Amino acid sequence: MLRIDIISVKPDLIKSPFEGSIVKRAIDKNYFEIYFHDLKDYSNYKRKQVDDYQFGGGSGMVLMIEPIKNCIDFLCKQRNYDEIIYMTPDAKILDQKTSNRLSTLENLIILCGHYKGVDQRVRDQLITMEISIGDYVLSGGELPAAVLCDSLARLVPGAIGDSTSALTDSFQDNLLAPPVYTRPANFENLKVPSVLLSGNKKEIENWKENKSIERTKQIRPGIIK
Ligand code: SAH
Repeated sequence: MLRIDIISVKPDLIKSPFEGSIVKRAIDKNYFEIYFHDLKDYSNYKRKQVDDYQFGGGSGMVLMIEPIKNCIDFLCKQRNYDEIIYMTPDAKILDQKTSNRLSTLENLIILCGHYKGVDQRVRDQLITMEISIGDYVLSGGELPAAVLCDSLARLVPGAIGDSTSALTDSFQDNLLAPPVYTRPANFENLKVPSVLLSGNKKEIENWKENKSIERTKQIRPGIIK
């Protein structure tokens, strides 16, 4: 069972990805638990303030350390967390290997930044791991956190009906996935490769592997090890 606690100033932004599909099934079957925490509930400031201007000047508000620390302390009193993750564009980019490892853990906190980000002291003192989802900047960490959670939920044993399915996706084995086809076998003279209809398991496996290698060389040569 993987439990994830998400801390955010806009928790409503992140709920819908968990309301359907594989992720919902993982939650319904109790393979995966997810909780949302509104940072404003942990603010002791007037009007539930959670952000303030930057010291030294510069545009953009910064999330303050105190409400974040209150929330993380509150959670850490109740259970041990394996990682306390901050989603941020200036970090190592998420890859399948990292998702595989995180999916085997029990308790994770994910902190979503907003505006200009969080006070650096949060990153120095409270966070154990930072993750980016790519070299582009979004307005908040909510979508990145949803991306991370989805990639973990589908790996938790039992979440996907056929557990081998997640292992045949792209990036497992450092290869992109082969193309896939379904009925009809002939659509307006566009035919499915005949080997897939042959019933010969070994030939099909070889074909898939060759296609994987071919596509990876063409599209993402850098990931082949
Ligand atoms: N000032 C920061 C960007 C802040 S974007 C900088 O220049 O690096 C606001 C918030 O959105 C961040 O705190 C982070 O939580 C989230 N975010 C934006 N882009 C992201 C990305 N590519 N990966 C992960 N989180 C991201």
